Amino acid sequence: MNIVPSLQVKVNRIVDGSTSFNDVVDVGILRQKAEVAYVLRFMNALEFNGVLLKTDGEFDALIAVVVWQAYLSSLSRYRIVCALRSVGMDAQADNFARCGLNVYNLKCCHCGYVHEVEFHCKLRVCRSCGVTRQYEMVDAWRDGLLSIGELRFVTLTLKNVVDLDAGVKKIRSCFTKLRHRKYYVSRIYGGLYAIECPVGKDGLWNVHLHFVYGGRYIPQPKLADDWEKITGDSRVVDIRKVKCVDRSVRYLVKYACKVDVGAMVADGKLGEYMSALYNVRLVQAFGTLLGRRTVDDTLFLCPECGECVWRVVEAATGYVVFDGLEYIRSRASPMF
Ligand SMILES: [Zn+2]
Ligand SMILES: [Zn+2]
Repeated sequence: MNIVPSLQVKVNRIVDGSTSFNDVVDVGILRQKAEVAYVLRFMNALEFNGVLLKTDGEFDALIAVVVWQAYLSSLSRYRIVCALRSVGMDAQADNFARCGLNVYNLKCCHCGYVHEVEFHCKLRVCRSCGVTRQYEMVDAWRDGLLSIGELRFVTLTLKNVVDLDAGVKKIRSCFTKLRHRKYYVSRIYGGLYAIECPVGKDGLWNVHLHFVYGGRYIPQPKLADDWEKITGDSRVVDIRKVKCVDRSVRYLVKYACKVDVGAMVADGKLGEYMSALYNVRLVQAFGTLLGRRTVDDTLFLCPECGECVWRVVEAATGYVVFDGLEYIRSRASPMF
């Protein structure tokens, strides 16, 4: 993937007025301060002199910042693609590269109406897919959580680990052991947990687990003692009452869905993160919450004729991928 041509396209769009500054600034993934000298050098490298010559100083600076943001965004995407390829995840790299593009269309089998669909890669490193996932999780679990009683938010930590895969397995099994102890069975009825794995200051994996549960009060010192007995070395735990369910669930899934790409790339950890956690569930319901997921099974009806029999076609070629798909559900986002 060559990042410069895609950036040039963005710059051209600013110049010819077909996109606004906000659109371009919003694509910035890394929030780094732009250094004017770098920006100017970069713009020169693009042979992009027109705007600098024609406009006043303030406008130049604004354009430069916008260009720099767009550059960082492209660079971040480029690094993710490289990291995926470096661990042999070529199919995922291709999917990530085309996330957000109109790769497929839905065509109504009844009246011929064409509905454009954006492709979603659904990878954890993808920022736009991560945000969508957060809101889906809140919608899916809010009602279920509210139905299991008074809620509390708990954080359980582990000492930082070298091996990410082993760390995730360890915290999951320790959490299961904790819940299965007699004392906790009578206090933790059910809930939702999420495993989070950023890179710690020491360069090791800082694996920890958050969960929201419905049930009875547990004193923090008792929880810390028991967690230390189970893990063998970790006693840092936190427990507090949930004031707002939406906020708690969003917090819970936010970090499990969001990856600090910049920090992981700097530490050379992104490839390991992607390969160790691919297809590994990081957010999971347990106990009485199981089976209480709110399923959005709204049919996607044709806005023209009201039918719901669709054909999925490739946008570029018109090639029919699926035919007569009768139930395209909710967001009109096919599952591929
Ligand atoms: Zn129709
Ligand atoms: Zn995506």
